Amino acid sequence: MNWFSKNPDGLAVEAALRAALSGVIDPRTGKDVVTTNFVTSASLADGEDGAKVTITVELPGGPSPLNDKLQAEIQAQVKALDGIGAVSLIATAHKAKVTPDSPRGGHANPLGLPGSKLADTIAMPFVRRIVAIASGKGGVGKSTMAANLAVAFAQAGYRTGLMDADIYGPSLPVLFGLKQKAAFADGQIQPTEAFGVKLMSIGLLVPEEKALAWRGPMVMGAVQQMFTEVHWGELDILLIDTPPGTGDAHLTLLQKARLSGAVIVSTPQEMALADVRRGVSLFRQMETPVLGLIENMAYFDQPDGTRLPIFGEGGARKAALELKVPFLAEVPLIPLLQAASDAGTPLGAYDPETPSAGIFKQLARDIAEKLDLVPIENPS
Ligand code: ADP
Repeated sequence: MNWFSKNPDGLAVEAALRAALSGVIDPRTGKDVVTTNFVTSASLADGEDGAKVTITVELPGGPSPLNDKLQAEIQAQVKALDGIGAVSLIATAHKAKVTPDSPRGGHANPLGLPGSKLADTIAMPFVRRIVAIASGKGGVGKSTMAANLAVAFAQAGYRTGLMDADIYGPSLPVLFGLKQKAAFADGQIQPTEAFGVKLMSIGLLVPEEKALAWRGPMVMGAVQQMFTEVHWGELDILLIDTPPGTGDAHLTLLQKARLSGAVIVSTPQEMALADVRRGVSLFRQMETPVLGLIENMAYFDQPDGTRLPIFGEGGARKAALELKVPFLAEVPLIPLLQAASDAGTPLGAYDPETPSAGIFKQLARDIAEKLDLVPIENPS
Protein backbone atom coordinates (compact mmCIF):
# COMPACT_ATOMS: atom_id res chain seq x y z
CA MET A 1 0.00 0.00 0.00
CA ASN A 2 1.23 3.44 -0.82
CA TRP A 3 -0.44 6.07 1.29
CA PHE A 4 0.68 9.67 0.94
CA SER A 5 4.10 8.62 -0.30
CA LYS A 6 4.77 12.07 -1.70
CA ASN A 7 3.40 13.92 1.24
CA PRO A 8 5.70 14.28 4.26
CA ASP A 9 2.99 15.92 6.35
CA GLY A 10 0.50 13.25 5.61
CA LEU A 11 0.89 11.06 8.66
CA ALA A 12 -1.87 12.63 10.72
CA VAL A 13 -4.17 12.66 7.73
CA GLU A 14 -3.32 9.06 7.01
CA ALA A 15 -4.37 7.99 10.49
CA ALA A 16 -7.65 9.88 10.15
CA LEU A 17 -8.26 8.36 6.75
CA ARG A 18 -7.54 4.85 7.92
CA ALA A 19 -9.91 5.33 10.83
CA ALA A 20 -12.66 6.64 8.55
CA LEU A 21 -12.27 3.83 6.05
CA SER A 22 -12.10 1.11 8.66
CA GLY A 23 -15.85 1.61 8.99
CA VAL A 24 -16.50 0.67 5.37
CA ILE A 25 -17.15 -3.06 5.39
CA ASP A 26 -17.30 -5.21 2.28
CA PRO A 27 -20.04 -7.78 2.95
CA ARG A 28 -18.22 -10.32 0.75
CA THR A 29 -15.32 -10.53 3.16
CA GLY A 30 -16.92 -9.12 6.28
CA LYS A 31 -13.81 -6.98 6.62
CA ASP A 32 -13.10 -3.31 6.10
CA VAL A 33 -11.65 -2.02 2.85
CA VAL A 34 -8.30 -1.09 4.37
CA THR A 35 -7.62 -4.48 5.95
CA THR A 36 -8.43 -6.25 2.70
CA ASN A 37 -6.19 -3.86 0.71
CA PHE A 38 -9.13 -2.85 -1.46
CA VAL A 39 -8.03 0.73 -0.93
CA THR A 40 -4.61 0.65 -2.54
CA SER A 41 -3.38 4.22 -2.24
CA ALA A 42 -4.27 7.73 -1.21
CA SER A 43 -2.66 11.05 -1.92
CA LEU A 44 -3.26 14.59 -0.87
CA ALA A 45 -3.02 17.92 -2.69
CA ASP A 46 -4.00 21.48 -1.87
CA GLY A 47 -7.41 22.35 -3.18
CA GLU A 48 -9.48 25.51 -3.27
CA ASP A 49 -11.91 24.55 -0.49
CA GLY A 50 -9.61 22.33 1.53
CA ALA A 51 -7.42 19.36 0.75
CA LYS A 52 -8.08 17.29 -2.33
CA VAL A 53 -7.73 13.59 -1.65
CA THR A 54 -7.28 11.04 -4.41
CA ILE A 55 -8.01 7.48 -3.43
CA THR A 56 -7.30 4.43 -5.53
CA VAL A 57 -9.38 1.35 -4.94
CA GLU A 58 -9.25 -2.09 -6.44
CA LEU A 59 -12.51 -3.85 -5.74
CA PRO A 60 -12.99 -7.44 -6.84
CA GLY A 61 -15.24 -8.53 -9.66
CA GLY A 62 -15.40 -5.46 -11.91
CA PRO A 63 -18.27 -2.97 -12.04
CA SER A 64 -21.24 -4.01 -9.93
CA PRO A 65 -23.91 -2.36 -7.81
CA LEU A 66 -22.09 -3.53 -4.67
CA ASN A 67 -18.80 -2.03 -5.81
CA ASP A 68 -20.60 1.20 -6.71
CA LYS A 69 -22.06 1.31 -3.24
CA LEU A 70 -18.71 0.68 -1.58
CA GLN A 71 -17.09 3.38 -3.68
CA ALA A 72 -19.81 5.87 -2.77
CA GLU A 73 -19.38 4.94 0.91
CA ILE A 74 -15.60 5.34 0.76
CA GLN A 75 -16.04 8.72 -0.87
CA ALA A 76 -18.62 9.84 1.68
CA GLN A 77 -16.53 8.75 4.70
CA VAL A 78 -13.47 10.62 3.47
CA LYS A 79 -15.46 13.69 2.46
CA ALA A 80 -16.90 13.87 5.98
CA LEU A 81 -13.44 14.37 7.51
CA ASP A 82 -12.43 17.86 8.63
CA GLY A 83 -10.51 19.94 6.11
CA ILE A 84 -11.26 17.79 3.08
CA GLY A 85 -12.52 19.77 0.09
CA ALA A 86 -12.79 17.17 -2.62
CA VAL A 87 -12.39 13.44 -2.96
CA SER A 88 -11.66 11.73 -6.24
CA LEU A 89 -11.86 8.05 -6.42
CA ILE A 90 -9.98 5.97 -8.95
CA ALA A 91 -11.17 2.41 -9.36
CA THR A 92 -8.35 0.46 -10.95
CA ALA A 93 -9.42 -2.33 -13.20
CA HIS A 94 -8.45 -5.93 -12.88
CA LYS A 95 -6.16 -6.74 -15.75
CA ALA A 96 -7.87 -8.42 -18.66
CA LYS A 97 -6.15 -11.30 -20.42
CA VAL A 98 -3.95 -10.47 -23.38
CA THR A 99 -5.07 -12.27 -26.50
CA PRO A 100 -2.88 -13.07 -29.51
CA ASP A 101 -4.78 -10.62 -31.67
CA SER A 102 -4.33 -7.73 -29.25
CA PRO A 103 -3.23 -4.74 -31.25
CA ARG A 104 0.19 -3.67 -30.14
CA GLY A 105 3.46 -2.34 -31.47
CA GLY A 106 4.26 0.77 -33.49
CA HIS A 107 2.36 -0.15 -36.62
CA ALA A 108 -0.94 -0.11 -34.75
CA ASN A 109 -0.67 3.49 -33.63
CA PRO A 110 -2.87 4.80 -36.43
CA LEU A 111 -3.66 8.08 -34.77
CA GLY A 112 0.06 8.76 -34.71
CA LEU A 113 0.02 10.08 -31.16
CA PRO A 114 3.47 11.11 -29.98
CA GLY A 115 4.97 8.57 -27.61
CA SER A 116 1.84 6.45 -27.80
CA LYS A 117 2.22 2.85 -26.78
CA LEU A 118 -0.79 0.63 -27.04
CA ALA A 119 -1.58 -1.07 -23.81
CA ASP A 120 -2.41 -4.74 -23.78
CA THR A 121 -5.52 -4.06 -21.79
CA ILE A 122 -8.14 -1.38 -21.88
CA ALA A 123 -8.58 -0.02 -18.38
CA MET A 124 -11.33 2.57 -18.00
CA PRO A 125 -11.28 3.11 -14.25
CA PHE A 126 -13.26 6.35 -14.43
CA VAL A 127 -16.10 4.89 -16.44
CA ARG A 128 -18.80 3.12 -14.47
CA ARG A 129 -20.58 1.29 -17.29
CA ILE A 130 -19.63 0.62 -20.90
CA VAL A 131 -22.44 -0.49 -23.19
CA ALA A 132 -22.19 -1.49 -26.84
CA ILE A 133 -24.99 -0.55 -29.22
CA ALA A 134 -24.81 -3.14 -31.98
CA SER A 135 -26.67 -4.34 -35.04
CA GLY A 136 -26.24 -7.12 -37.54
CA LYS A 137 -26.80 -4.88 -40.55
CA GLY A 138 -26.17 -1.30 -41.55
CA GLY A 139 -29.06 1.08 -42.06
CA VAL A 140 -31.26 -0.20 -39.23
CA GLY A 141 -30.83 3.04 -37.28
CA LYS A 142 -28.20 1.85 -34.79
CA SER A 143 -26.23 5.12 -34.81
CA THR A 144 -29.46 7.11 -34.56
CA MET A 145 -30.51 5.06 -31.53
CA ALA A 146 -27.05 5.41 -29.94
CA ALA A 147 -27.02 9.19 -30.42
CA ASN A 148 -30.53 9.72 -29.07
CA LEU A 149 -29.97 7.37 -26.16
CA ALA A 150 -26.77 9.20 -25.25
CA VAL A 151 -28.62 12.53 -25.20
CA ALA A 152 -31.41 10.99 -23.11
CA PHE A 153 -28.86 9.68 -20.57
CA ALA A 154 -27.19 13.10 -20.40
CA GLN A 155 -30.55 14.83 -19.96
CA ALA A 156 -31.35 12.44 -17.11
CA GLY A 157 -28.23 13.60 -15.27
CA TYR A 158 -25.75 10.87 -16.19
CA ARG A 159 -22.23 11.83 -17.19
CA THR A 160 -22.37 10.35 -20.64
CA GLY A 161 -19.92 9.54 -23.41
CA LEU A 162 -20.53 8.21 -26.89
CA MET A 163 -17.78 6.58 -28.90
CA ASP A 164 -18.31 5.90 -32.56
CA ALA A 165 -16.28 2.72 -33.15
CA ASP A 166 -17.16 2.60 -36.83
CA ILE A 167 -13.87 3.40 -38.52
CA TYR A 168 -15.05 2.98 -42.11
CA GLY A 169 -18.42 4.72 -41.80
CA PRO A 170 -18.44 7.14 -38.88
CA SER A 171 -21.79 8.86 -38.51
CA LEU A 172 -21.39 10.67 -35.21
CA PRO A 173 -20.02 13.96 -36.64
CA VAL A 174 -23.11 14.29 -38.84
CA LEU A 175 -25.58 13.25 -36.14
CA PHE A 176 -24.18 15.86 -33.76
CA GLY A 177 -23.48 18.50 -36.40
CA LEU A 178 -19.74 18.61 -35.67
CA LYS A 179 -17.54 20.41 -38.17
CA GLN A 180 -14.31 20.83 -36.16
CA LYS A 181 -11.73 18.14 -35.58
CA ALA A 182 -11.11 17.11 -31.98
CA ALA A 183 -8.70 19.08 -29.84
CA PHE A 184 -5.45 17.63 -28.54
CA ALA A 185 -4.17 18.79 -25.17
CA ASP A 186 -1.86 17.50 -22.41
CA GLY A 187 -0.85 14.54 -24.56
CA GLN A 188 -4.41 13.35 -24.92
CA ILE A 189 -7.23 13.65 -27.39
CA GLN A 190 -10.03 15.74 -25.92
CA PRO A 191 -13.56 14.52 -26.57
CA THR A 192 -15.86 17.00 -28.23
CA GLU A 193 -18.86 17.88 -26.09
CA ALA A 194 -22.29 18.47 -27.61
CA PHE A 195 -25.76 18.36 -26.08
CA GLY A 196 -24.18 17.31 -22.77
CA VAL A 197 -22.48 14.23 -24.26
CA LYS A 198 -18.72 13.66 -24.60
CA LEU A 199 -18.14 12.42 -28.12
CA MET A 200 -15.39 10.73 -30.08
CA SER A 201 -15.28 9.37 -33.59
CA ILE A 202 -12.58 8.66 -36.13
CA GLY A 203 -14.35 11.33 -38.17
CA LEU A 204 -13.18 13.87 -35.57
CA LEU A 205 -9.58 12.70 -35.80
CA VAL A 206 -8.37 11.93 -39.31
CA PRO A 207 -9.52 12.74 -42.84
CA GLU A 208 -12.07 10.26 -44.13
CA GLU A 209 -9.89 8.82 -46.92
CA LYS A 210 -7.08 8.07 -44.50
CA ALA A 211 -9.15 5.76 -42.29
CA LEU A 212 -10.68 4.06 -45.32
CA ALA A 213 -7.23 2.83 -46.33
CA TRP A 214 -6.59 1.13 -42.98
CA ARG A 215 -6.71 -2.62 -42.60
CA GLY A 216 -7.26 -4.96 -39.62
CA PRO A 217 -4.61 -4.06 -37.03
CA MET A 218 -4.81 -0.36 -37.83
CA VAL A 219 -8.58 -0.36 -37.43
CA MET A 220 -8.34 -2.22 -34.15
CA GLY A 221 -5.54 0.08 -33.02
CA ALA A 222 -7.67 3.13 -33.77
CA VAL A 223 -10.61 1.76 -31.79
CA GLN A 224 -8.34 0.90 -28.89
CA GLN A 225 -6.83 4.38 -28.96
CA MET A 226 -10.28 5.90 -28.84
CA PHE A 227 -10.66 4.15 -25.49
CA THR A 228 -7.26 4.72 -24.01
CA GLU A 229 -5.95 7.96 -25.48
CA VAL A 230 -9.07 10.03 -25.23
CA HIS A 231 -9.50 12.04 -22.08
CA TRP A 232 -12.98 10.79 -21.24
CA GLY A 233 -12.78 11.91 -17.62
CA GLU A 234 -15.31 10.50 -15.18
CA LEU A 235 -18.35 9.00 -16.85
CA ASP A 236 -21.39 7.16 -15.57
CA ILE A 237 -21.95 5.56 -18.93
CA LEU A 238 -20.01 5.25 -22.16
CA LEU A 239 -22.03 4.04 -25.13
CA ILE A 240 -20.13 2.44 -27.98
CA ASP A 241 -21.71 2.69 -31.40
CA THR A 242 -20.21 -0.47 -32.88
CA PRO A 243 -19.90 -1.02 -36.64
CA PRO A 244 -22.64 -3.14 -38.21
CA GLY A 245 -22.09 -6.87 -38.14
CA THR A 246 -19.33 -6.46 -35.56
CA GLY A 247 -17.02 -9.44 -35.94
CA ASP A 248 -14.93 -11.45 -33.54
CA ALA A 249 -11.84 -9.22 -33.60
CA HIS A 250 -13.84 -6.12 -32.79
CA LEU A 251 -15.71 -7.90 -30.05
CA THR A 252 -12.51 -9.22 -28.53
CA LEU A 253 -11.27 -5.67 -28.37
CA LEU A 254 -14.51 -4.41 -26.87
CA GLN A 255 -14.35 -7.22 -24.36
CA LYS A 256 -10.97 -5.97 -23.21
CA ALA A 257 -12.80 -2.86 -22.09
CA ARG A 258 -15.08 -5.03 -19.93
CA LEU A 259 -18.43 -4.19 -21.45
CA SER A 260 -21.27 -4.08 -18.94
CA GLY A 261 -23.73 -5.04 -21.63
CA ALA A 262 -24.90 -4.80 -25.20
CA VAL A 263 -28.08 -3.45 -26.77
CA ILE A 264 -29.00 -4.82 -30.19
CA VAL A 265 -30.91 -2.76 -32.73
CA SER A 266 -32.91 -4.39 -35.50
CA THR A 267 -35.71 -3.69 -37.92
CA PRO A 268 -38.65 -6.10 -38.02
CA GLN A 269 -37.59 -7.91 -41.20
CA GLU A 270 -36.74 -11.59 -41.11
CA MET A 271 -33.39 -10.90 -42.80
CA ALA A 272 -32.31 -8.44 -40.14
CA LEU A 273 -33.39 -10.83 -37.42
CA ALA A 274 -31.07 -13.58 -38.64
CA ASP A 275 -28.22 -11.20 -37.81
CA VAL A 276 -29.72 -10.47 -34.42
CA ARG A 277 -29.45 -14.15 -33.57
CA ARG A 278 -25.80 -14.12 -34.59
CA GLY A 279 -25.14 -10.94 -32.62
CA VAL A 280 -26.76 -12.32 -29.48
CA SER A 281 -24.73 -15.50 -29.71
CA LEU A 282 -21.47 -13.56 -30.26
CA PHE A 283 -22.07 -11.37 -27.22
CA ARG A 284 -22.97 -14.44 -25.20
CA GLN A 285 -19.72 -16.11 -26.20
CA MET A 286 -17.94 -13.00 -24.94
CA GLU A 287 -19.94 -13.29 -21.70
CA THR A 288 -21.36 -9.83 -22.26
CA PRO A 289 -24.94 -9.57 -21.03
CA VAL A 290 -27.37 -8.70 -23.80
CA LEU A 291 -29.47 -6.00 -22.13
CA GLY A 292 -32.11 -6.24 -24.81
CA LEU A 293 -33.37 -5.65 -28.27
CA ILE A 294 -34.68 -2.43 -29.81
CA GLU A 295 -36.97 -2.83 -32.78
CA ASN A 296 -36.50 0.27 -34.89
CA MET A 297 -38.77 1.42 -37.72
CA ALA A 298 -41.38 -0.86 -36.16
CA TYR A 299 -44.37 0.94 -37.69
CA PHE A 300 -45.56 4.27 -39.04
CA ASP A 301 -48.33 6.24 -37.35
CA GLN A 302 -50.56 7.39 -40.19
CA PRO A 303 -52.42 10.69 -40.10
CA ASP A 304 -55.73 8.80 -39.79
CA GLY A 305 -54.53 7.29 -36.50
CA THR A 306 -53.86 3.78 -37.80
CA ARG A 307 -50.49 2.05 -37.58
CA LEU A 308 -48.79 0.82 -40.70
CA PRO A 309 -46.23 -1.95 -40.08
CA ILE A 310 -44.08 -1.08 -43.09
CA PHE A 311 -41.39 -3.71 -42.53
CA GLY A 312 -43.58 -6.44 -41.04
CA GLU A 313 -44.87 -6.98 -37.59
CA GLY A 314 -43.75 -8.44 -34.28
CA GLY A 315 -40.61 -10.13 -35.65
CA ALA A 316 -38.19 -8.63 -33.17
CA ARG A 317 -40.49 -9.32 -30.24
CA LYS A 318 -40.66 -12.96 -31.33
CA ALA A 319 -36.88 -13.14 -31.75
CA ALA A 320 -36.38 -11.62 -28.29
CA LEU A 321 -38.66 -14.25 -26.81
CA GLU A 322 -36.96 -17.04 -28.71
CA LEU A 323 -33.46 -15.85 -27.79
CA LYS A 324 -34.51 -15.10 -24.21
CA VAL A 325 -33.34 -11.50 -24.32
CA PRO A 326 -35.44 -8.59 -23.05
CA PHE A 327 -37.45 -6.67 -25.62
CA LEU A 328 -36.62 -3.07 -24.80
CA ALA A 329 -38.72 -0.95 -27.13
CA GLU A 330 -40.28 -0.53 -30.49
CA VAL A 331 -39.39 2.76 -32.11
CA PRO A 332 -41.67 3.86 -34.94
CA LEU A 333 -40.62 5.57 -38.10
CA ILE A 334 -40.42 9.18 -37.01
CA PRO A 335 -40.01 11.74 -39.79
CA LEU A 336 -38.84 14.30 -37.21
CA LEU A 337 -36.07 11.93 -36.12
CA GLN A 338 -34.70 11.85 -39.62
CA ALA A 339 -35.04 15.63 -39.98
CA ALA A 340 -33.34 16.28 -36.61
CA SER A 341 -30.49 13.88 -37.45
CA ASP A 342 -29.92 15.54 -40.79
CA ALA A 343 -29.89 18.93 -39.06
CA GLY A 344 -27.14 17.65 -36.76
CA THR A 345 -29.25 17.79 -33.60
CA PRO A 346 -30.46 14.64 -31.84
CA LEU A 347 -34.22 14.65 -31.39
CA GLY A 348 -34.15 15.00 -27.59
CA ALA A 349 -32.25 18.27 -27.99
CA TYR A 350 -34.11 19.36 -31.12
CA ASP A 351 -37.52 19.10 -29.49
CA PRO A 352 -37.30 17.72 -25.92
CA GLU A 353 -41.08 17.82 -25.47
CA THR A 354 -42.02 15.77 -28.51
CA PRO A 355 -43.55 12.42 -27.49
CA SER A 356 -40.98 10.66 -29.66
CA ALA A 357 -38.16 12.01 -27.48
CA GLY A 358 -40.01 10.36 -24.58
CA ILE A 359 -39.29 6.95 -26.12
CA PHE A 360 -35.56 7.51 -25.69
CA LYS A 361 -35.99 8.89 -22.17
CA GLN A 362 -37.87 5.74 -21.20
CA LEU A 363 -35.26 3.56 -22.93
CA ALA A 364 -32.47 5.27 -20.99
CA ARG A 365 -34.39 4.68 -17.74
CA ASP A 366 -34.90 1.00 -18.57
CA ILE A 367 -31.28 0.45 -19.55
CA ALA A 368 -30.03 2.29 -16.43
CA GLU A 369 -32.23 0.02 -14.35
CA LYS A 370 -30.82 -3.09 -16.00
CA LEU A 371 -27.34 -1.77 -15.27
CA ASP A 372 -28.23 -0.82 -11.68
CA LEU A 373 -26.99 2.64 -12.53
CA VAL A 374 -27.96 5.81 -10.75
CA PRO A 375 -26.02 9.06 -11.01
CA ILE A 376 -23.49 9.08 -8.14
CA GLU A 377 -24.01 12.78 -7.43
CA ASN A 378 -27.74 12.43 -7.20
CA PRO A 379 -28.73 8.92 -6.10
CA SER A 380 -32.48 8.41 -5.98
P1 ADP B 1 -27.11 2.53 -38.96
O1 ADP B 1 -26.30 3.16 -37.90
O2 ADP B 1 -27.80 1.27 -38.50
O3 ADP B 1 -26.39 2.33 -40.25
P2 ADP B 1 -28.48 5.07 -39.12
O4 ADP B 1 -28.65 5.39 -37.68
O5 ADP B 1 -27.40 5.76 -39.88
O6 ADP B 1 -28.33 3.50 -39.33
O7 ADP B 1 -29.91 5.30 -39.82
C1 ADP B 1 -30.11 5.15 -41.19
C2 ADP B 1 -31.10 6.20 -41.69
O8 ADP B 1 -32.38 5.93 -41.14
C3 ADP B 1 -30.75 7.62 -41.26
O9 ADP B 1 -31.08 8.48 -42.31
C4 ADP B 1 -31.66 7.88 -40.06
O10 ADP B 1 -31.99 9.25 -39.91
C5 ADP B 1 -32.88 7.08 -40.45
N1 ADP B 1 -33.63 6.56 -39.29
C6 ADP B 1 -33.17 5.70 -38.35
N2 ADP B 1 -34.15 5.39 -37.49
C7 ADP B 1 -35.25 6.08 -37.88
C8 ADP B 1 -36.59 6.19 -37.39
N3 ADP B 1 -37.01 5.49 -36.33
N4 ADP B 1 -37.43 7.02 -38.06
C9 ADP B 1 -37.03 7.71 -39.14
N5 ADP B 1 -35.80 7.64 -39.66
C10 ADP B 1 -34.91 6.84 -39.04
